[in-house]
Amino acid sequence: TAVVDRLRAQRPVFSVEFFPPRDDESERRLWRAVRELEPLDPAFVSITYGAGGSSRDRTIRTTGRIAQETTLVPMAHLTGVNHSLDELRNVIGWYAAVGVHNVLAVRGDPPGDPMGEWVPHPEGITYAEELVRLVRELGPFCVGVAAFPYGHPRSADLEVDADHLVRKIRAGADFAIAQLFFQPDDFLRLRDRLAARGCDVPLLPGVMPLTTQRMLTKTVELSGADVPPALARRLERHADDPAAFRAEGIEVVTELCSTLLAEGVDALHFYTLNRATATREVVGRLGLLPVRP
Ligand code: FAD
Repeated sequence: TAVVDRLRAQRPVFSVEFFPPRDDESERRLWRAVRELEPLDPAFVSITYGAGGSSRDRTIRTTGRIAQETTLVPMAHLTGVNHSLDELRNVIGWYAAVGVHNVLAVRGDPPGDPMGEWVPHPEGITYAEELVRLVRELGPFCVGVAAFPYGHPRSADLEVDADHLVRKIRAGADFAIAQLFFQPDDFLRLRDRLAARGCDVPLLPGVMPLTTQRMLTKTVELSGADVPPALARRLERHADDPAAFRAEGIEVVTELCSTLLAEGVDALHFYTLNRATATREVVGRLGLLPVRP
């Protein structure tokens, strides 16, 4: 099943993101989350692509197992970091061989230092746009790309960054997933920039349940934005009470998602960090769970 077909369902849907497990214990935890989320019928589940060989093998193995052993629709991420075109073709071939036909094509960051200088592999890609073309050439894949509500950290200008996003989409991407952000308008303005360029592919907001201080820090890191003062005040009050912090964090994220749904956003992408509980809580409160007969 193509992810984009699941996104055209006539109702709001959600999807979930995992990372490849590092060891046996983290593999068990991931599979617990997969099995807990499976009956909730997410539109798709995606597995990120790491920097090293063994983690990359685990992305292929895990997406393959999801394709073969569950009812879920898997999507594998792929980056151009330290890969020649031949190696990229090889990985894409593996995805197809294990039954994975959805790929999120991202460029990746220099290993070790995300803001370090990007040095392309001598026989590799320079921009994600080229990876989109490569995946498209190699078979009937459904392809997604990354989008940045605050602009990509290397982009000086939001409008130019949006032009680059549109180039990736015109190169053959079927949909885009936005990096984390804090306020509905931050995402909605990105949607407007795409619409202004005549681009109407599905754009999914990236959402992380703010269950701990660590998740908040991670959101700052990934989004490239500071916590808005009003939100910081709401959460800081509970800095010494993990249960109260979690409850408030879930409330904040549920409100964010409700506003997005009210604004016509009809697919939400959750960063689960390989755990099911918080995502299940938020999508349950949003009324996005399948109705049981
Ligand atoms: P690109 O689209 O190539 O953009 C990189 C920079 O170049 C931007 O500043 C852009 O504006 C500029 N640019 C793009 N095209 C052009 C052009 N034609 N000419 C000039 N400039 C251009 N990383 C991982 O390592 N593994 C993952 O699994 C992973 N998953 C992700 C999932 C999501 C939803 C998101 C949002 C990010 C993910 N990332 C992942 C991080 C991503 O790899 C980095 O953010 C990376 O720095 C940018 O990737 P990109 O695909 O947006 O790059």
